[in-house]
Amino acid sequence: MLDITIVGGGIVGIATALRLKEVSPNLKVAVLEKEKGIGQHQTGHNSGVIHSGLYYKPGSLKAKNCIEGYNQLIDFCEKEDIPFELCGKLVVATNDQEKKQLNILYERGIQNGLEKIKKISGEEIKNYEPHCFGVEAIHVPYTGIIDYKEVIKGYAKVFQESYQGEIHLGNYVEKTVNRSSYLEIVTNKKTFKTKLLVNCAGLYSDRVARVSGNKIDIRIIPFRGEYYKLKEDRKGLVKNLIYPVPDPNFPFLGVHFTRMINGEVEAGPNAVFAFKKEGYRKTDFSFNEFFNSITWPGFQKVIFKYWQTGMGELYRSISKSAFTKALQKLIPEITSSDLESAEAGVRAQACDKRGGLLDDFKIVEDKFGIHVCNAPSPAATSSLSIGKTVADMALKRIL
Ligand SMILES: Cc1cc2nc3c(=O)[nH]c(=O)nc-3n(C[C@H](O)[C@H](O)[C@H](O)COP(=O)(O)OP(=O)(O)OC[C@H]3O[C@@H](n4cnc5c(N)ncnc54)[C@H](O)[C@@H]3O)c2cc1C
Repeated sequence: MLDITIVGGGIVGIATALRLKEVSPNLKVAVLEKEKGIGQHQTGHNSGVIHSGLYYKPGSLKAKNCIEGYNQLIDFCEKEDIPFELCGKLVVATNDQEKKQLNILYERGIQNGLEKIKKISGEEIKNYEPHCFGVEAIHVPYTGIIDYKEVIKGYAKVFQESYQGEIHLGNYVEKTVNRSSYLEIVTNKKTFKTKLLVNCAGLYSDRVARVSGNKIDIRIIPFRGEYYKLKEDRKGLVKNLIYPVPDPNFPFLGVHFTRMINGEVEAGPNAVFAFKKEGYRKTDFSFNEFFNSITWPGFQKVIFKYWQTGMGELYRSISKSAFTKALQKLIPEITSSDLESAEAGVRAQACDKRGGLLDDFKIVEDKFGIHVCNAPSPAATSSLSIGKTVADMALKRIL
């Protein structure tokens, strides 16, 4: 009998498993992952940014976990020799309207304790990013770059080698059976008996909650984020990270430039409704998953409210020149011939029944389970802190 079984071998699931063993090494903890390797979905397809906590509402779970997670991540990487670089970033306003929003963002950053951020003028932007245009910007020295595939490998190594934690790959959780004092988790390969289930299934966290008997009131809507990368001879256009001022109505940051830790420079991601949860290509389609998304009353309200934004994202997905135009707002001299396609990622974005795209992290509890139902960006940065939060909830119930 396992004490705690985690469904999902992404960065949140493995960080939770690691924390459980650090606090209570004798607990029997296992992670069940449907793929042949860990971190194959959101964790392995993201922008690789260590976020500072600038954007998030003071007091929210995102703000708290991002700032705590940032420090824990850096400590872990220093200890385990995982490369990262705190190169800093610019958030750039390109007109007076965006300047107002930039000021709100600046105040938010200060409230979140980021004392070293500073506002810089249009001319000063050139000192940091000579090819960037803007009327004003915030320089955020805390922001960094990292490869989260290396980070999750590091978590898993400590979990397995130092604490003999179990990771069962190729185990797709199909259903659970409630045996009153314990739970059976049935996968395509075998049945695991456990006292508690922790659901960290990312894009499928709504499904895993439902198959374990939770009548959860949210759906995970998949939003594909498509990227281009700068060709080798044009990488010099970007020194570090350049972000636009985000649309306050939308939980995404807008297409940005990111120098990756491997030396590539990526541009993106956009945010297009995906017709399949793990649909990394534009042509990927699952009738069931598409149907489940569009019949959800909350998502119908989102479509009604934001159809213009959605159409814009779709247009930029189909048309490279429209995507380039969005990038030219920040770097006017960039042309579509400077860009080549890069791998896409798919975000798990929770949507409630009333039509809200959930902005904050969300964790729900029931008799046999703890369900991490919304862990979008910056959940990779925040993973050790979210892992601690979830592990504390689990330990309270088990010990
Ligand atoms: C395009 C993009 C850019 C991003 N950029 C950043 C960034 O720069 N910085 C940052 O901090 N965050 C970023 N994020 C967010 C971050 O990557 C995610 O929030 C984080 O990886 C979520 O981790 P997770 O473990 O919850 O989910 P995942 O990594 O998706 O893991 C969930 C796991 O559950 C498994 N699973 C699902 N169903 C089952 C089942 N039935 N049985 C067994 N296993 C199952 C899946 O196979 C998967 O491995 C980005 C995300 C995306 C998509």
